[in-house]
Amino acid sequence: MDKRLLVVGNWKMHLNASQASLLLHRLHERIKIYRSVEVVLSPSMLALQPLSIQIDRRKFRLAAQNAFHKDEGAYTGEVAFSMLRDLVHYAIIGHSERRIHFGETLPMIRDKVSASIRNGITPILCVGETITERRQGETNQVLHDQIATALHGLTAKEVANLVIAYEPVWAISTFGGQLAKPDQAQTAMDFVRKQIAGLYGKKTAEEIRVLYGGSVDDNIVSGYLQIPGCDGVLVGGASINYHKFSSIVSAAHKVASGAEEDED
Ligand code: PEP
Repeated sequence: MDKRLLVVGNWKMHLNASQASLLLHRLHERIKIYRSVEVVLSPSMLALQPLSIQIDRRKFRLAAQNAFHKDEGAYTGEVAFSMLRDLVHYAIIGHSERRIHFGETLPMIRDKVSASIRNGITPILCVGETITERRQGETNQVLHDQIATALHGLTAKEVANLVIAYEPVWAISTFGGQLAKPDQAQTAMDFVRKQIAGLYGKKTAEEIRVLYGGSVDDNIVSGYLQIPGCDGVLVGGASINYHKFSSIVSAAHKVASGAEEDED
């Protein structure tokens, strides 16, 4: 099981293919090959193909931001996980922007998780409560329902290989961007792991990677990465700024290795 710290950059619906290529070039100049950190870039669907050719696979892996759960058929406008299998290592599934803007439901997200695994793509499942749900004391129930539905029917081995990103909706920059305190993040991330332990056993809960996401930038990333049991971060807005994102990766390397100096 890969237990390097995982840093995922979600470029959202920003950058056309040539802008994405330029950003990758800038990141390549600044980010070294780190043994302690796995860096994943998630550009728009349009940029995945060219970036998959340009990318230095010793430094970066690619993730899709979304895909459709059927492997083929008359689904105009959709791209199937089966079409992405040689392009990406990961797929972000259930992002709050997709749940809120595109009405993705729990069963739709479950179908995407299962299609992703079926096609050899590791899901990065996003879960998290809205501010109203938090204020009403429903955080654990929301996380429980999102996880139980999304993982329905999976084996312990499949679950162990998954990534779950705890992303409180109220902390995402596009939905308010109120910073979560590291202890708030830790409480929810502990709950996620406990639920996995309850459903699939202690070993699976130790193996699954749990990330934090929500307005993470280079100034605050270390606070989240130092949370016990935090396996990395999912970064949105700051990931399209190459200064910020490369500083985030370098901070992750320092947390992971306790290093003062960057390694080559
Ligand atoms: C995200 O897109 O998953 C995210 C956490 O965005 P931001 O870092 O901009 O809040």
